[in-house]
Amino acid sequence: MIAYDYDVIIVGAGPAGTTAAARIASTGMSVLLLEKYPLPRSKTCGGGVTRRALQKMPVDITPIIRESIDSLIVFNQGAKKQVFTHHRPYLFMVMRDELDYLLANHAIACGTKIETGEAVKHIEETKDAVIVSTKSKQYQCRYLLGADGVNSTVARLCGLAKEKQKILALEYEVAQGPTYMQEHPRSIMIDYGAVANGYLWVFPKHDHYSIGVGSFGTKAQDLQAILHQFLERHAIMDAVIDAKGHHLSLGGRSLKVATKRILLLGDAAGFVEPFGGEGIYYAVYSGEIAANHVIEQGKQASRDLSGYQALIEREIMPELTMLSKVNDVFYPNIGLIHRMITRYPQFMHKGFSVLEGEKSYVKVYPVLKRVLSAGKGIGLIARYFG
Ligand SMILES: Cc1cc2nc3c(=O)[nH]c(=O)nc-3n(C[C@H](O)[C@H](O)[C@H](O)COP(=O)(O)OP(=O)(O)OC[C@H]3O[C@@H](n4cnc5c(N)ncnc54)[C@H](O)[C@@H]3O)c2cc1C
Repeated sequence: MIAYDYDVIIVGAGPAGTTAAARIASTGMSVLLLEKYPLPRSKTCGGGVTRRALQKMPVDITPIIRESIDSLIVFNQGAKKQVFTHHRPYLFMVMRDELDYLLANHAIACGTKIETGEAVKHIEETKDAVIVSTKSKQYQCRYLLGADGVNSTVARLCGLAKEKQKILALEYEVAQGPTYMQEHPRSIMIDYGAVANGYLWVFPKHDHYSIGVGSFGTKAQDLQAILHQFLERHAIMDAVIDAKGHHLSLGGRSLKVATKRILLLGDAAGFVEPFGGEGIYYAVYSGEIAANHVIEQGKQASRDLSGYQALIEREIMPELTMLSKVNDVFYPNIGLIHRMITRYPQFMHKGFSVLEGEKSYVKVYPVLKRVLSAGKGIGLIARYFG
């Protein structure tokens, strides 16, 4: 009989790890969450929680929401400003230290034990157990969940998600924003075209703004120069409080994310959509899927987690794969798309309803593709929109 220290060990106290921990611990299984940093810890992130992500959160996050967003200011290369207002908030602004701390405390309330300042250094999977080592301690568990972010140690040590694609994005916290942000309360700003194959964003955080830039393309670009130019143009360079960069994983390719006893979740598995960079939703969703699978398999005699791979292929991959195709048609045609949404704002409202969880990207993509390739192709439509 194996003496397990815990039924489940989860590595990483981001939204993926804490969601899974709360759900598993609330069934009475013993759960240890290992986190490298003391909590609360900061995380470089825009902190935009879509309504669909909000609805998946394991606990009410209203107390830490800094702004509820119902409008979107869109620029194309700093020009052609358009403002779209939805009938209700589709996005909620948070600071990640506050969100992740709230989720971690919920996981503790559900029965999770958390050890902070404990980075996982070594992992050994045997037939009956997983042995997890930090600098000073060693634990034996039945199952291990790797929710340790884009540069996952668990993935690396276990040979999982090997071909994960990564990009770099910059995120600055700035005391002031461009003046148009005050003219349009409850708005975020997105400038497509500020950078090739990506966008620059301004997210309001009540007492400051999160301003960042990222590109999903492979072409090397000087993101810092682009962001600094923007800050200079709006005379807010001196208002920068904090400046950071961090990797984002780009989902869309099918990667191995499970063994018999080890699963990857969230960014560790590469679950960030490669069109807009939304990752919190997929972190929480994969946390939920992994937790349900662990609970289910824990009850079975086989106790084999590898069926998680098929669950991910069914629940998460179709959307990520399709969004990488959207990326291929969206960014190269950004001028046309901008003209299209200006003329037909209902396209933008379709986008809002996806972020709200009312429609799925999988349903919207064929419409976008049809529109873009209607008649004799993009050129025809471009001429039509003139
Ligand atoms: C600049 C930028 C802006 C973004 N903006 C948005 C946005 O507005 N909206 C959105 O939905 N997504 C956004 N994302 C993506 C989002 O931040 C991630 O998808 C999300 O944080 C993934 O959550 P996670 O729980 O998988 O991992 P993380 O949040 O990265 O958490 C991983 C945890 O694991 C810990 N850890 C790492 N290694 C170890 C180890 N060896 N041992 C123990 N612990 C370890 C880390 O300290 C961390 O606490 C953005 C990302 C970037 C880089």
